Amino acid sequence: MNYVRPKKHLGQHFLKDENIAQEITSSISESTVNLLEIGPGTGVLTKYLLKNEKLNLFVIEIDTESVTYLTHHFPQLENRILAEDFLHFPIENLFNHESYSIIGNFPYNISSQILFKVLEHREQIPEVVGMFQKEVAERIASKPGKKAYGILSVLLQAYYNIEYLFTVDEHQFIPPPKVKSAVIRVRRNAVNQIDCDDKLFFRVVKTAFNQRRKTLRNALNSIELDADKLPADILSKRAEQLSVEDFIRLTNAVKVNF
Ligand code: SAH
Repeated sequence: MNYVRPKKHLGQHFLKDENIAQEITSSISESTVNLLEIGPGTGVLTKYLLKNEKLNLFVIEIDTESVTYLTHHFPQLENRILAEDFLHFPIENLFNHESYSIIGNFPYNISSQILFKVLEHREQIPEVVGMFQKEVAERIASKPGKKAYGILSVLLQAYYNIEYLFTVDEHQFIPPPKVKSAVIRVRRNAVNQIDCDDKLFFRVVKTAFNQRRKTLRNALNSIELDADKLPADILSKRAEQLSVEDFIRLTNAVKVNF
């Protein structure tokens, strides 16, 4: 049972199904050593992670009531609980600057922001396993040509391989969220450096999807492109039709750093 009254503004939905908790915690790679859990709440995942003695586990939790609960129920977590906001914490300093993976039933109100922060620190974060709203999970895993395909899909897929693991029903949580959930595994791919300037790539992708119904010729009209460097038909397509490689090509055709 949990004794923390869920707080809606913190996206608190406590998972009650132990089998699902176990399934999530066993989805991290076997080689994992350094692991950060975001939003442990009352520790439904934490307790299984603590059974794995190989793991060097830290947890980060914004809610002081949950932190108190964790401190009392998991004394072995002593000095490993960061009572902080993940979005504002300097995560590059964790684990002595070594690489580490991330796990969590993520607070849904900030799930995209968590992933953007992971992307910023992608050189240090080889793997993320966790629960998202089903719709966000589908967006992340989506391939070109689908309505769900968007900024996060392209940016994450440029650096990570995405696996949709399983769907979780809303009634597995207290209180039940309004939407279904899904667990995904996101693993860094073999690409060290994409084949273009990565900051410019981010900006091109964001600009293209800002007006996703328009053709790229219109959506990107604020950017000067060298048409000679592009396949003939690419500018009459819309952002959602382009693969990661197409966006790299597009980035390499930008004339001026806008
Ligand atoms: N892992 C628990 C709780 C999931 S609910 C379970 O599965 O039952 C999401 C958790 O994230 C809550 O405990 C909430 O307090 C925490 N949280 C919300 N925003 C956060 C933030 N910015 N940084 C760290 N933790 C956060």
